[in-house]
Amino acid sequence: MSASETPRKPRGRQFFANPGPTNIPDSVLLATAHQTVDFNDPNFLEVYDSCVAGLKQVLRTEHEVFLYTGSGHAAWEATLVNLLSPGETVLILESGYFSDSWAQMAQDLGLEVRMVAADWRRGVDLGAVRAALADDTAQAIRAVCVVHNETATGMTIPLPEVRAALDAAGHPALLLSDTISSLGSLDYRMDEWGIDACVGGSQKGLMLPTGMSFTGVSAKAMQAHQSSRLPKHYFNWTKMLGRRHRSFVGTVPTSFFYGLQESLRLMLREEGLEQVIARHARLARAVRAAVQHWSGNDGPQLFCLNPARYSDSVTAVLMPEGHDADALRAMALQRFNLSLGGGLGPLGGKVFRIGHLGDLNEPMILGTLATVELAMRVAGVPHAPGGVDAALATLA
Ligand SMILES: *Cc1c(COP(=O)(O)O)cnc(C)c1O
Repeated sequence: MSASETPRKPRGRQFFANPGPTNIPDSVLLATAHQTVDFNDPNFLEVYDSCVAGLKQVLRTEHEVFLYTGSGHAAWEATLVNLLSPGETVLILESGYFSDSWAQMAQDLGLEVRMVAADWRRGVDLGAVRAALADDTAQAIRAVCVVHNETATGMTIPLPEVRAALDAAGHPALLLSDTISSLGSLDYRMDEWGIDACVGGSQKGLMLPTGMSFTGVSAKAMQAHQSSRLPKHYFNWTKMLGRRHRSFVGTVPTSFFYGLQESLRLMLREEGLEQVIARHARLARAVRAAVQHWSGNDGPQLFCLNPARYSDSVTAVLMPEGHDADALRAMALQRFNLSLGGGLGPLGGKVFRIGHLGDLNEPMILGTLATVELAMRVAGVPHAPGGVDAALATLA
């Protein structure tokens, strides 16, 4: 093996450009490294209560929030089992890998799943959503499930328009939304948008380690919970309401709350939620400008073909025919210590994803974009050089 072939030990900081988990700010990391405390200790309870209040501010809700030790999938499951009964129908708006996974889970739990099918590159047609609701004259659909920000494709679904479709149809179904990769990154307003239950997780916009998730629950959904008959124990909201923490059947993961307290301080007090959202929009525009530029010379292109629904927290990049996204990612990681997200499900090898959510600034985004361009040059992936300049132009 010649010197140039020897795998290098990466030096310098890894550029971690995945759309979840995301970079954890140093102050959050330090806060998380907290010694064990009794979760009923009055000092901890103060931290806990302030975290739940802060979380409600980020969700923009005044309703109930239930928390779980478990990743986003746990909150998906908690939400379904607390609201529905065996054999009931849910309508799922197809968006990509994550809508399909949520649908699979609903089916495994014994629910009847109806999908509103969609082209993953163009997004669901709201006319088709209205038609599915209009067709449901028996009002069998108990819940409409929407992934607000499809992390696999880099596309959002306008939740207020889904709410409007339900209202226009006079349909009583609950509106459930997954906000795992949008919360703390994109505008999200649970109460204003009439969301009945929303699912969030710790390791994306909230900039925490993986392992905690939660559900915001409207008064209407709490009502539906009373009659739900799917089996539940650890996730049972009624059990949780009987406990001091109004969440967690079992030990409370205290160290998460020291981290959450700090990430909420960064988001709500130091930067401000509006500025957080504006920063995500600004950095996302820079990423898209670079990719759009690269698409010259038959280069890679934006996977999302619907500009009105571009995601400001993740961009999926479709490789040119005959070039493997995973080979490019592996090389970028090995040679340049840049970690990119891979394509999920049927997009494996075809797409790579640049995560631009959480603790990020211009130098980090520009470093990522420059390194992607470098990796394409090294790997012989066709592209129009100068994507970084195009990004600079949007940021200047
Ligand atoms: C990450 C993600 C999930 C899954 O969450 P886990 O924490 O990995 O279980 C679900 N939905 C969306 C939109 C996501 O981005």
